[in-house]
Amino acid sequence: MNAVLFGPPGSGKGTHAKSVAAALGIPHVATGDIFRRHLKEGTELGQLARSYMDKGQLVPDSVTCDLVASRLEEADAGGGVLFDGFPRSVAQVEWLLGWLAARGGSIGVVVNLLVPDAEIVQRIAGRRACLGCGATYHARANPPAQAGRCDRCGGDVVQRADDGEDIVRERLATYARETAPVLAVLRGAAPVVDVDGVGGIEAVQARVHAVLPRG
Ligand code: AMP
Repeated sequence: MNAVLFGPPGSGKGTHAKSVAAALGIPHVATGDIFRRHLKEGTELGQLARSYMDKGQLVPDSVTCDLVASRLEEADAGGGVLFDGFPRSVAQVEWLLGWLAARGGSIGVVVNLLVPDAEIVQRIAGRRACLGCGATYHARANPPAQAGRCDRCGGDVVQRADDGEDIVRERLATYARETAPVLAVLRGAAPVVDVDGVGGIEAVQARVHAVLPRG
């Protein structure tokens, strides 16, 4: 079964993805993480993605869908995946539904995390991530034990380049313009469950897990 974690930037998709993927027994596929990995490795795709990420814009659909297609063809994706940060445009959701339909697949659940814009701006301003392993923190709500050092791997904990205030505003505008309309398409194709994303990490996690289908 496939599942989608949906919601604006900063709504907590990345925070909850690991436990949701584990509960569903499927791998976590986050397009933003894949682009950041390419960026770090200095690949051509990474260079291309950076030019869009730095402006808070979407990487072109054809590039993103090709990337997802090759990820879905890997052996561990055969039983479905948890999408995080994808689909993010109407073209992407239409491509995904077509890809799944051609293979007898479907989306079993879409978890739509609801968080107001004002809270998002505040959350992202404090968001920090480890350059080594990608673990996420929050400067105030969930800091690492030692400032700037990852609890998990000892790597540098920094603010993401695209979490600066101006780029965040662009990302929110991009979400409203290009990503929000995806929800209507998903509602026509899969069970979509709205979940209140405001509150502590554990409280939201419990709400998310409560709406997951039981295997
Ligand atoms: P995220 O980590 O999901 O917030 O993604 C960071 C950035 O990567 C986004 O602002 C986009 O520039 C790019 N990106 C991630 N996922 C997608 C996608 N599905 N389509 C297009 N661009 C994406």
